[in-house]
Amino acid sequence: MSGGAVEVGRFAPSTTGPAHPGTLLAALLCWLDARARGGRVWLRLEDLDPQRCRPEYLAGLREALEWFGLDWDGEERQADHAAGHAAALDALAEAGLLYPCRCSRAELSAQAKRAPDGSARYPGTCRDRPLPAAGDGGWRACSDALRVRLPGGRIELMDEGGADLSASPAGEYGDPVVRRRDGAAAYHLASVVDDQRIGVTRIVRGRDLAPSSAVQRALGELLGYGAPAYRHHLLLLEERGGKLAKFHGAVGFEALRGVYSPPELCGLLAHACGLRPGPDPVQPEDLVAGFDWSALRTRDRLIEWDGGALHLGA
Ligand SMILES: [Zn+2]
Repeated sequence: MSGGAVEVGRFAPSTTGPAHPGTLLAALLCWLDARARGGRVWLRLEDLDPQRCRPEYLAGLREALEWFGLDWDGEERQADHAAGHAAALDALAEAGLLYPCRCSRAELSAQAKRAPDGSARYPGTCRDRPLPAAGDGGWRACSDALRVRLPGGRIELMDEGGADLSASPAGEYGDPVVRRRDGAAAYHLASVVDDQRIGVTRIVRGRDLAPSSAVQRALGELLGYGAPAYRHHLLLLEERGGKLAKFHGAVGFEALRGVYSPPELCGLLAHACGLRPGPDPVQPEDLVAGFDWSALRTRDRLIEWDGGALHLGA
C-alpha cells in the first residue's frame, strides 16, 4: 500500500485448541509486523467449524494472548459475521459460479492426485451440476456442499520473503468448497470475506498456510477484492509419531503459564525465531523498534517440552 495509508494486519487463530508456543510465536510476529509499521492489527477468532471449535478454547486463546502482552485494535469472532459470508455466497451464486457437490469424503480421498498443500485435488466431478433453483429455500437450503467454479489461469503471487506463491488454483487444487454440508461458510471463503471487511492489507502467518494463498487470492478476485501483501514465517516443530510436525500437542497455555512469566516466554520465542541472540526476558513492545524480518530465521525450528521446560532444537 502506498500514499501513507495505514496498514492493517490480523492474527486469525482457529478456536480448536489451547494456545501453545506456536500460536504465541505466530501472534507475536503478526503483531510486531503491524506495530513496527505503525499499522493496525486485529484479532480474528475463527470459530466457524461446529465440530472442532469450542467456546472454552476461544476464551482461552484470548486470555493467553492478553497474558503474553499483545493488544489488538479490533477483535471479532467469525461466527458473528455469517451475514457477510452469506452475501458473498449470494454474489457467487448470482454470477453463476456455485454448484452443489455430492462427492463423499471417501470418494474425494480416493482421488490419486494431491494438491500442493497435500489435500486431495478436487477433480471437478460435480462441476456441471446446476444449483437448485428457487423454491423450498432454493440453493441456500440445499444440504450438499457448495463449490465455486474457479477460472483457469495462473495467479501470480510473491511472498515478501521471496517465496513464489504463484499457482493455477483450478488445475492444482480444483474448485474449493465455499459452503460446507452443515451450512457453515468454508474456511477460505470466510477468511477472504472477513479480511476484506476489516480492510486487511497484510497477511502474516505460518508457512504451512502459504500454499493456499493462491486459492484465497483467486476467490478474492472473483469477489472483486484487492490483493493483500503476504508474509509467511517459520514454524515451530515437534516430534510426533517419529516425525517432525508443526508444534501443536506437546504443551498448552496452562502448563506454560505455570512455568514461565510472560517476558520469559516471549524472550524464549524471540530467541527461537532469531530476533534475539539469547533467551533473556523481553516484552513484545520492546521488540517493536528494531523489528526486521530479514533478521528472522527462515528455517523451521524444533522445540521440545520435557514436562517442565521448553528446549530449542536445531
Ligand atoms: Zn463433487
